Amino acid sequence: MAGASVKVAVRVRPFNSRETGRNAKCVIQMQGNTTCISNPKQAKDGAKNFTFDYSYWSHTTVITHTVAHSIQTFIVTSICESTLWYNVCIFAYGQTGAGKSYTMMGKQEPGQEGIIPQLCEDLFQRTGENSDPDLTYSVEVSYMEIYCERVRDLLNPKSQGTLRVREHPILGPYVEDLSKLAVTGFPDIRDLMDAGNKARTVAATNMNETSSRSHAVFTIVFTQKRRDQMTSLDTEKVSKISLVDLAGSERADSSGAKGTRLKEGANINKSLTTLGKVISALAEMQSSKKRKSDFIPYRDSVLTWLLKENLGGNSRTAMIAALSPADINYEETLSTLRYADRAK
Ligand code: ADP
Repeated sequence: MAGASVKVAVRVRPFNSRETGRNAKCVIQMQGNTTCISNPKQAKDGAKNFTFDYSYWSHTTVITHTVAHSIQTFIVTSICESTLWYNVCIFAYGQTGAGKSYTMMGKQEPGQEGIIPQLCEDLFQRTGENSDPDLTYSVEVSYMEIYCERVRDLLNPKSQGTLRVREHPILGPYVEDLSKLAVTGFPDIRDLMDAGNKARTVAATNMNETSSRSHAVFTIVFTQKRRDQMTSLDTEKVSKISLVDLAGSERADSSGAKGTRLKEGANINKSLTTLGKVISALAEMQSSKKRKSDFIPYRDSVLTWLLKENLGGNSRTAMIAALSPADINYEETLSTLRYADRAK
């Protein structure tokens, strides 16, 4: 995964019990980096091929390790071994139930840990192995949810309302009063994520929503401080790693919806479309070696605006699109593949 700063991967999950119960057929095939989807209603000429940086097959075997490993190598090496300031964003895109959370968090069973635990493990291992007395590390995390263009703090149980989005003249867009908590290892992170996920579910239930209608952004701020023995001055390298579990992409289709649902669908659609445009504009900029980022529409959604510093500049972006293998989800899966294809 070295080199390019935007990487797109797709990952298919095994059938779930609903699909098995309905005797669903598999419409996905993968070969190398190519994913092929066949139209169940069109036996002939109904197949479409898409090529990504990675196409991960997990219909029969669990390969979270492979997924996490390549993404993690791409990211940890960028952060720790580069002399530049590196920010990182990883997005999980796809319809509800396609495996976004599984890919990001996985399960607490050996071999089934998701990208976040493995990435954190790797980061903390590096900090733990550090024997250089002039180098110190600190890690802080925040966790927020964006629902209908409004931001909620998931790590502050007292924060009921929505937080203001502001812009710092140098550091760029930020959320005012968002909690940032110091952590010393992955267990701290896991506890905070669990607490945040509970807050997300409770808030969603109170408002008669489901958490699949909001975007959840977990951010790790990794600071490396180096002391110069001669001058006794400190230099800091700060990397922001944002891990984003996007709203279920099926909500983006608001056809037939009314009232809150319509507004919700339109907002999800707006942020997912803007995110796709931003990522593809960044990828284009990178391939054409253009440096100008004026045309990148960060401001068109709260999600992309808040992630501006993580997406542009010295940053690495990975998008993982989660897919169901079943014919009964054909339309949704095709639209996920098209989205991922546009993001390349
Ligand atoms: P989403 O976050 O997209 O709504 P989830 O990650 O919650 O979906 O996945 C739905 C279900 O499918 C969960 O029970 C999860 O454990 C299972 N699952 C998803 N992806 C995989 C996979 N690659 N291998 C095994 N089980 C998976």
